[in-house]
Amino acid sequence: MKQVEPQVFLLARPAINEEGLASYLQAVGAPNWDTDAPSAGEKLIEVAGRSCYRSFEPGLNPNVTKIREGSKAYLENILKVKHGSVVEHANWTFAFFNVSRVFTHEIVRHRAGTAISQESLRFVRLTEIGMWVPPEIRENPEALAIFEEVVRKSEEAQQRMADVLAIEGRPFHEKKVLTSAMRRVAPDGLATTIIWTANARTLRWVIEARTEPGAEVEIRMVFARVAEIMKKEAPHLFGDFKPIPLPDGTHQWQPDHSKI
Ligand SMILES: Cc1cc2nc3c(=O)[nH]c(=O)nc-3n(C[C@H](O)[C@H](O)[C@H](O)COP(=O)(O)OP(=O)(O)OC[C@H]3O[C@@H](n4cnc5c(N)ncnc54)[C@H](O)[C@@H]3O)c2cc1C
Repeated sequence: MKQVEPQVFLLARPAINEEGLASYLQAVGAPNWDTDAPSAGEKLIEVAGRSCYRSFEPGLNPNVTKIREGSKAYLENILKVKHGSVVEHANWTFAFFNVSRVFTHEIVRHRAGTAISQESLRFVRLTEIGMWVPPEIRENPEALAIFEEVVRKSEEAQQRMADVLAIEGRPFHEKKVLTSAMRRVAPDGLATTIIWTANARTLRWVIEARTEPGAEVEIRMVFARVAEIMKKEAPHLFGDFKPIPLPDGTHQWQPDHSKI
């Protein structure tokens, strides 16, 4: 057994095609419009939102005589009035590495606005099993000994079954069938990887739901990290999230504008 810590890697963020945006702004009659948005994602959402009322400048739509100036004021209002669909235009992609199957099972419950690719344990054979050890077990030597023993036995079981089933040297499709059969006795806590893409609306909701005190500790830790990253990535979209310390040393990230 290898003790691991869950890790969060930001793999991708939105980008603007400035040429296409300039052509669109020309076409809509606002060639001089610009924004002080700190990120491409925030700029994209602002463009999408302003397109709804042609509120790039006063008078472009005769019904609009006054517009909100600046990315911060504009996006704050979008969040306040819960114009949530606009916020779906920008997506970020994360690798959650060395997270447990407990974690992946929970995160896939969030369906709206996500894309998911999960390490296949039909294809990837288990040898040394990585485990994040929760503090309650880590801090109790007797509990830790039981925990480690079970994982070691599980590793042995994988190896013994691989030998008994003579997996080596078989064609790949047969290895896949056997690997999938053998994983059934693997522990739920084993470390794995999931690539997770979510739009800003989903990110806001999942950070809120998964850092609340009732959520499981591993997913709370991971989404606290996601919250920190997103606050830096898109301060006008995530700036209202504040960390509230919890007794176990983790933080709940509470937004001013809940569930947009
Ligand atoms: C602390 C905690 C404890 C939990 N405990 C359990 C448990 O014991 N057992 C269990 O099974 N699950 C549990 N869950 C999972 C929970 O029930 C949800 O499945 C999960 O949080 C996904 O959230 P969501 O339903 O908001 O879906 P998301 O996909 O995140 O959707 C976001 C929002 O979009 C809307 N939406 C999405 N899909 C639909 C739809 N089909 N129809 C209408 N509106 C939709 C809803 O407003 C929804 O809130 C728990 C979650 C948390 C945070």
